[in-house]
Amino acid sequence: MPTSLQTLFDEFNRRYWKGRLPRYLVRRQSKIKRGDLERLGVCNHQKKRIVIKSSLEDSILRQVLLHEMVHVRFPDEDHGPKFTRELRRLAARGERGLLSHADGLEGLQNFSKRAWPTLDLLMDELRGQIDFLAQENPRRHWKTIYAILQDSGAWTAWLETWTELSSKTPGQSPLPMVAWLYYEWEKASKWYRRDRPGTR
Ligand SMILES: [Zn+2]
Repeated sequence: MPTSLQTLFDEFNRRYWKGRLPRYLVRRQSKIKRGDLERLGVCNHQKKRIVIKSSLEDSILRQVLLHEMVHVRFPDEDHGPKFTRELRRLAARGERGLLSHADGLEGLQNFSKRAWPTLDLLMDELRGQIDFLAQENPRRHWKTIYAILQDSGAWTAWLETWTELSSKTPGQSPLPMVAWLYYEWEKASKWYRRDRPGTR
C-alpha cells in the first residue's frame, strides 16, 4: 500500500523543517484547475490545505508535495527569492527535480500538451533546468550542458514551442533558443562558481 500523502507530509516536515511547519491537510483530487491551466498541486493558506493531482507517479508527487510545502514555509512569498533559496536547500539535501519548477506554473507539466502558453513561462522552465545543472556543477562545459538538455524528454517540445512563440511576438525577430540558453548558462554558472566556498 502506498504511503498516504499526509504521512509523507509529516515525514518531510520532520526531516526538512524539524517538524516546525504548521500541519496542512493534504488530499488528492483528480483535476485541479485555475483559470485555463491545469495544476499539479495547489496550496491554500486560508484553509491550511494542500491539494495534489491524484494521477501523478510517485517521484513527481514527491516533488509537487515538497514544492507546496515550501509555500507553507513562506506563505507571504509566491515564487520569490526565499522560495527559490529553500528549494536549493532541499536540492542540496538530495531532493531532485525541484528547481526546474521554481517558477512558472505550479509543478510539472505534461510535455505532450502545450505546457507553456507564453514565452516567459517557457523561459522560466528552461531557466530552472539551467539553474539546477549549474548548481550541480557550475564548471561543466557549455557543450556538455547542451547535450544534457537535448537528452531531456522535453527537448522537442521546448524547441517547437520556442520557435512557435518567439516568432509570434510582434515587432521582435525570432530569438534563437540555443543562443539564449548559452547566455543563461553563462550567467547561472558564474553565479554558482562565485558562490562556492573556497573558490573566491
Ligand atoms: Zn508554487
